[in-house]
Amino acid sequence: MAMPSHPHYGVGILQPVAPVDPVPSGRRTLLAGWGRATPSSADLVDVTPDTLAAAVKDLPRRGGIARGLGRSYGDPAQNSGGHVLRLVPENERIVIDDRTCTVTTGAGVSIDDLLAIIVPRGYFVPVTPGTRFVTIGGAIASDIHGKNHHADGSFGDHVSSLRLMLADTTVVDIAPDRDPELFWATIGGMGLTGVIVDATFRLIPIETSRMSVETRRIGHLDEIMARMSESDATVRYSVAWIDLLATGRHLGRGVLTNAEHATADQLGPREAVDQLAYAGKQLVAVPPVVPAPGLINRLSVGAFNEVWYRKAPVVREGELQSIPTYFHPLDLVGAWNRVYGRNGLLQYQFVVPFGAEGVLRTVIERISASALPIFLTVLKRFGAGNPGHLSFPLGGWTLAIDVAANRAGLSELLRHLDALVLDAGGRHYLAKDFQTSPAAIRRGYPRLDEWLAIRGRVDPAGVWSSDLSRRLGLTPTTN
Ligand SMILES: Cc1cc2nc3c(=O)[nH]c(=O)nc-3n(C[C@H](O)[C@H](O)[C@H](O)COP(=O)(O)OP(=O)(O)OC[C@H]3O[C@@H](n4cnc5c(N)ncnc54)[C@H](O)[C@@H]3O)c2cc1C
Repeated sequence: MAMPSHPHYGVGILQPVAPVDPVPSGRRTLLAGWGRATPSSADLVDVTPDTLAAAVKDLPRRGGIARGLGRSYGDPAQNSGGHVLRLVPENERIVIDDRTCTVTTGAGVSIDDLLAIIVPRGYFVPVTPGTRFVTIGGAIASDIHGKNHHADGSFGDHVSSLRLMLADTTVVDIAPDRDPELFWATIGGMGLTGVIVDATFRLIPIETSRMSVETRRIGHLDEIMARMSESDATVRYSVAWIDLLATGRHLGRGVLTNAEHATADQLGPREAVDQLAYAGKQLVAVPPVVPAPGLINRLSVGAFNEVWYRKAPVVREGELQSIPTYFHPLDLVGAWNRVYGRNGLLQYQFVVPFGAEGVLRTVIERISASALPIFLTVLKRFGAGNPGHLSFPLGGWTLAIDVAANRAGLSELLRHLDALVLDAGGRHYLAKDFQTSPAAIRRGYPRLDEWLAIRGRVDPAGVWSSDLSRRLGLTPTTN
């Protein structure tokens, strides 16, 4: 049977998918993350805020975990042998408050759906990842970051309150000043403190729906990093795409794109006709090129990276781009994760603090010297982290590398990189992980025990359970 695919539910080719998932409540389903590398079976239960309590009471011994759109790369939204609860998006309950520039929305609503409503009203989300197919629940539970972390922080920094259903089905209304411990344990808590039912968070007012983008092709890593450091205070959005296959004097060459929300006076006559026009589903102007399945090898990826680098302008300033083109170009290629073949892909994302630039460089040299075919890699600068116990960002440099899973030599290389990252005071991103060890997480997240104690307070029996929580030992303590 042909498996229909939709960019919405990220269960890839493992099950039939559709915008409103047809799998009936209680049906055992094979679920995976975006990397498709470690699928497992669970009962997938669609819930609304009204049916959530009954579904929580009905959880088996193996427990349950919330799932958004399955855009985490690894296993945090899977629960082998247990239940997985998915909040149905209720777009009709989205409420914008123009006075406070905030929105209140159900946690099952996606950034995709939200943008279609808020952009024409003159707002943008405070933080967006590289795909708009994530839910607000998933954005908070992973405390996602965007290209503006150095300027605006991560998603959790903008949440003014949220309602959380606990394991005993109590719904608590928490905020940075109402049970701050539980609030910050939930920001980046990977769904393991409860199910976020809805949240209120700040929006960015915008004059237009266009981005004013500066693109710069840069021949070496050192120059890219120097430019990113210089523009911290003046540029809101910044990201560099790095060619990890380049070596020697081209090590870490790449393309830096900086952007701001365009103001009305920056628009040409054509765009000014409807300055807040937004069409999330539109094709991007220059579709990203991705090789066909089975063609991922050092040669093809090297050729791809070369073409991509050469086609970038040496410098281009003030180019107007749409929101999807600047923020979400990969969404055009719905199931690009399949390019990596049967074993799926992993994304290795880490952060090292400022001062550890030498370690970042060593990591890049080691990857560059390995025989692994690695596409463009994303480098960003983070500003200071927030009080979230398991929130990933900390002031420093983050690198995200996509690579086909199960490649010979990959585990050894990653173990080696883990040690470099951890010795430098860095850490790994739980939303991308499916191969790090409990010890690596413990070292990278020094407030883990504090978080475990809070989890023990609200979920002593460990009702909230996922493949990730079992794999990494994120199980509650009760004292
Ligand atoms: C192409 C691509 C680009 C990406 N770019 C970025 C990026 O730039 N920055 C970044 O930070 N991340 C990025 N990500 C990762 C993504 O933003 C996160 O994994 C995000 O959490 C996915 O949201 P989701 O709705 O799909 O959640 P899922 O993947 O389904 O779940 C993620 C976690 O959220 C929990 N969760 C979901 N809903 C709820 C709820 N209602 N209550 C409590 N917990 C809940 C789940 O239990 C799980 O632990 C990217 C992913 C992809 C595929």
